[in-house]
Amino acid sequence: MIRNTTKGTKLWDSTMGFSATIILWPLILSVPLFLQHTYMNVFRPEWYDSSQMPKPLGLCLGLLSVSVGQVFVLCYQYLRWKGSKCTGKLVSVQPNEYRIYDYCEAAQEHLSQPEGFALIGCYLALTWMLHLMPESYYSFDGGVQWDKVVACLLVQDLLQYGMHRAEHKVSKEFYRASHEPHHRFTNPRLFDAFNGSFADTFFMIVLPLFTTKSIVHCNVWTYMAFGTLYANWLCLIHSETHHPWDWLFQACGLGTAADHHVHHKLFCYNYGHLFSYWDRACGTYRHPQNVRQFRKNEKAPKPLDKP
Ligand SMILES: [Zn+2]
Ligand SMILES: [Zn+2]
Repeated sequence: MIRNTTKGTKLWDSTMGFSATIILWPLILSVPLFLQHTYMNVFRPEWYDSSQMPKPLGLCLGLLSVSVGQVFVLCYQYLRWKGSKCTGKLVSVQPNEYRIYDYCEAAQEHLSQPEGFALIGCYLALTWMLHLMPESYYSFDGGVQWDKVVACLLVQDLLQYGMHRAEHKVSKEFYRASHEPHHRFTNPRLFDAFNGSFADTFFMIVLPLFTTKSIVHCNVWTYMAFGTLYANWLCLIHSETHHPWDWLFQACGLGTAADHHVHHKLFCYNYGHLFSYWDRACGTYRHPQNVRQFRKNEKAPKPLDKP
């Protein structure tokens, strides 16, 4: 009887986790997915005519896309914060510690961080309106090019890996002035993703973005899909609980919450964010299963008073 109940619970958790995965990721990408082939019915032709000066439509849709993605990620996180199992099983990444926080306060702090969305938003607006992006980015033709989305994510993560290692290793002064504020979280939660400093966001996100756009030339829908996946995935890997898709991501070398928690806990492993390929190639990868602090001990979990 007990075995049947356990089996039933496992089946329920897996089904809900699978459903949450196949619902959440398309929702995150809903703006480019919905508009890539319908934009001509929605907007006037002069708004997306790329033969003249940069028009703000592409920029506005890009910012809207990231924001819509954030709304769905925050809804998903709300359900998990409430303890609801409708998005799958809730298992802490670091089972020996727990952190209690107020959802509204944390979400408000997350969305209002000047070093996060504001700095990146300014970068996107300036590079777009000053025509600093390669010509292809202003084109609305062709829909999302998924191979180029993957290329953008890989290049961006490789450059971010390099900058991240440099921030840790170049000098103590550079580390303190840039990345140290983000490392006060040894057991991060989803809302800590963009909590750091201006210098950290500039070196680890803005500079790589500026370089990636010169390496991979794509259209506006591809740029939108890449930016939306990138921003929201960076939040998701800071989650305090394992995601239902993490087992699959782990098997494919894609970034998981546990992989990134290893970096926050041990500092000198897992510098990559979206992929573990660069860490594996450079010998800096540490599997979460090989981290003692991530294995449940016999004692009751300790509350974390400091982050
Ligand atoms: Zn982090
Ligand atoms: Zn770091």
